[in-house]
Amino acid sequence: MRFVDEFRDAELGRALAAEILSAVEPGRHYKVMEVCGGHTHSIYKYGIDGLLPANVELVHGPGCPVCVIPMGRVDDGIAIAEQPGVLFTCFGDMLRVPGSHGTLLDAKARGADIRMVYSPLDALRIARANPDREVVFFAIGFETTAPSTALTLQRAKAEGLTNFSCMCNHVTIVPPVRALLESPDLRLDGFIGPGHVCTVVGARPFRFIPADYGRPVVISGFEPLDLLQSVQMILAQLADGRCEVENQYKRVVPDDGNLRALEAMADAFELRPHFEWRGLGFISQSALKLSERYADFDAELRFAVPGVRVADPKACQCGEVLKGVIKPWECKVFGTACTPERPIGTCMVSPEGACAAYYNYGRFAREREVV
Ligand code: SF4
Repeated sequence: MRFVDEFRDAELGRALAAEILSAVEPGRHYKVMEVCGGHTHSIYKYGIDGLLPANVELVHGPGCPVCVIPMGRVDDGIAIAEQPGVLFTCFGDMLRVPGSHGTLLDAKARGADIRMVYSPLDALRIARANPDREVVFFAIGFETTAPSTALTLQRAKAEGLTNFSCMCNHVTIVPPVRALLESPDLRLDGFIGPGHVCTVVGARPFRFIPADYGRPVVISGFEPLDLLQSVQMILAQLADGRCEVENQYKRVVPDDGNLRALEAMADAFELRPHFEWRGLGFISQSALKLSERYADFDAELRFAVPGVRVADPKACQCGEVLKGVIKPWECKVFGTACTPERPIGTCMVSPEGACAAYYNYGRFAREREVV
């Protein structure tokens, strides 16, 4: 298939793996974080980790939007969904994320009208078709999906819809990455930058990583050759003593991002002073809420929500997984009490979650000695 097969060429993959091998210093251990959950999924789907030298370790970051939603926000969503007259919409993954008293799917089984949508525009269509119902869209995602919510809000406002609102859980990627860089738990040598987010925000927002923390960043695509080339580019920077933001995903990511999408986000959203991330705690200015201009569409203003902070289950180590401190198989409940069918933590729900990626592609234990 055009634009796919050329990025999955096994011969080129082996050539890149050989270049990576020749770039590493024997005896040095390299830790490279892929920020985005989409990358984690691709790495295990295509066995990229198996092509890397044993002393190049890929560490998984906090860039899975479903994984970072805390239990309290799920509880808030369920509280809205169970109010009379409400028709609650969300993406499929969100239905299975555990709150403190079950999931949205459990609430649906109890009788709440909760429907899966593929896009916020689906929710808008449902609102038009059901003028006697309050239709709420549970918005999640990083800067990748925030523009589609923003454009939907603009359309709802232009149409004068009064029965549509949005519970905004959009988050931004730079603050958690900065928090990780400040963490004494983690020593990282470089970052595979989040290609999807960068299609919207561009490469510039990541310049602080080399400037303030002296680590290279390579914005990467999601195909096997993209990821191998990105690792090779990071190792080449380290070998040359360079430290900069490079863009491997130039075919999709413009340096300045998508200006139309950024304008729509600036119109519809403003930064929250702080937001709780599952397992990571509160991070300041790391999430979006609806701007004053869209206050009429803000579900958190329209409905009463508990807004209570809920601690993660004791067995859950999603925080450590999201910070790259442990690998999924190191969590005591991985693959036993916690599986994709019956997840305890969020990292087992979405295919982009590290635990789900490890489980689905059979990484149940350390397979090789890292030197
Ligand atoms: S195995 Fe389950 S509980 Fe453990 S870190 Fe992964 S998602 Fe969380």
